[in-house]
Amino acid sequence: MRESFEEQRRKAVEDLKAQGVIRSRKVEEAMLRVPREKFVPEKFRSQAYLDTPLPIGWGQTVSALHMVALMCELLELEVGHRVFEVGAGCGYHAAVVAEIVAPKEAENLGHVYTVEIVKELADLARRNLEGASYAGRVTVIHGDGSLGFPEQAPYDRIFVTAASPGIPPPLAQQLKPGGIIVIPVGDPYSNQVLRVARKQPDGKLSWEDLLGVAFVPLRGTYGHRV
Ligand code: SAH
Repeated sequence: MRESFEEQRRKAVEDLKAQGVIRSRKVEEAMLRVPREKFVPEKFRSQAYLDTPLPIGWGQTVSALHMVALMCELLELEVGHRVFEVGAGCGYHAAVVAEIVAPKEAENLGHVYTVEIVKELADLARRNLEGASYAGRVTVIHGDGSLGFPEQAPYDRIFVTAASPGIPPPLAQQLKPGGIIVIPVGDPYSNQVLRVARKQPDGKLSWEDLLGVAFVPLRGTYGHRV
């Protein structure tokens, strides 16, 4: 008999802990709570807990489990944070972040705002998030996330799930002092690094490039012309 999704999820999280990708209790618990099988397309459901990107339609992919976990660790998320994501895709990554900043039981709830440029994917993310009871904690917006979302700014944390030529200036502006941005920076399909930037009290960003990565290209005003 095949293992239940819950069992597969538990094993995947154990592996990520053993590899040193998951380092904190809060990321571990969030990854254990979010049912990735409810976010990936039906035909990939049996592969939901393989640590690999999976197609979600429109030429896009949901990031591998280790990348979601790593970005959550690097963001140093806390309960109550207001978080902005560029690239909602299927909504899975936003759900994991919501589990940390807005766990159901917390009084001081944070919120995730996530922007998606492909209308059909914005609709899909919204449906998936509703179906897995994240609708009250995550807001999906259809639009160009490279411009940020000034209506709800400033944000404690910002993360981008598509590779950008650099840090889009509106994102830097919409980040609180002391806030963190995690973003893949590089060419459309190669030569990308994961950048972690922090906003200093004087408003300037200082950053570190951590490791080579492979993301789909960011489009829109501050994205790539692809
Ligand atoms: N975080 C997503 C990963 C999706 S892949 C998940 O958990 O599934 C990256 C997504 O970024 C794609 O869906 C792509 O359409 C979207 N994207 C690319 N450029 C964008 C932009 N300028 N604004 C918003 N979304 C963008």
